[in-house]
Amino acid sequence: MPERIKLTFLGTGGSIPTVERGLPAMSLEYNGAVYLFDCGEGTQMQMLKYGVNAHRIRAIFITHMHGDHVIGVAGLIRSMALYGRTEPLEIFVPEGEEGKLEPLLTFDRVRIGYPILIRKTRSGTAYKGKDFTVSAFALKHTVKTFGYRFKEDDRLHFDKQKCAKLGIKKEMFTEIQKKGKIRVGKKLILLSGVTTKEKGRSIVYATDSRPTASTINASKGADILAHEATYSKELAKLAKERAHSTSEEAAKVAKSAGVSLLVIFHVSARYSKSNPLEQEAKKVFKNTMLAYDGMELLL
Ligand SMILES: [Zn+2]
Ligand SMILES: [Zn+2]
Repeated sequence: MPERIKLTFLGTGGSIPTVERGLPAMSLEYNGAVYLFDCGEGTQMQMLKYGVNAHRIRAIFITHMHGDHVIGVAGLIRSMALYGRTEPLEIFVPEGEEGKLEPLLTFDRVRIGYPILIRKTRSGTAYKGKDFTVSAFALKHTVKTFGYRFKEDDRLHFDKQKCAKLGIKKEMFTEIQKKGKIRVGKKLILLSGVTTKEKGRSIVYATDSRPTASTINASKGADILAHEATYSKELAKLAKERAHSTSEEAAKVAKSAGVSLLVIFHVSARYSKSNPLEQEAKKVFKNTMLAYDGMELLL
């Protein structure tokens, strides 16, 4: 059985928090560790509220250095220091923007008793974990911004009967996996002939951004695309001006990429509980959910 992936939408508002929606952060739990995507103000409170263990955070992936996506780092790292954390913490920020993170870490000269490793996000592989990779892709916003894609490694399953019949045993499995083929007697056996591939799951996190081809490419066949939808289509002009997306635009991205589920978030503070965002998106892409704070998805 593959490891469970648990997503928790910790903050689903954009720019300004409301009583219903905190600022952007999504946690992804996998193999006993927590990976955080964005860390808006109040994220540590949301983690307490929704049962995500901060001590298990390995890495934080920041999309861009707008305050609503990163200010939460300041409080979170201090709380972990007070709790006696010793394990290193990696924080990814867009390359060239590291200087904007520094003040949040150092302004009060507090002693942080664990290493904080600042990593530069560029397009391509950002983080390689056990059985998965997180890669980054450029988004289109008012400042340098990256989306992130969590992709589990594909798994190979041997057809045991076939292997037995062909005489593949013991260390031969390692060899055929390494070389992609093996010679048994007079027969050349290809790896693809005796295995089936189970595709790893993938989750894409894309905010803040206009709809872009890079998001479509990164999301091809993804299980979940979490895409910003700051405005309803009525404010399409504003979305364009401020380099955000309407929910309809997010849905078009999801449709082009052929994802299984679209989750929209980063909702403008102007919208109350009853708003047209989900409905407008669903007209374009049926399998859409409007995220709410504390929403958990298991896959
Ligand atoms: Zn934002
Ligand atoms: Zn922004």
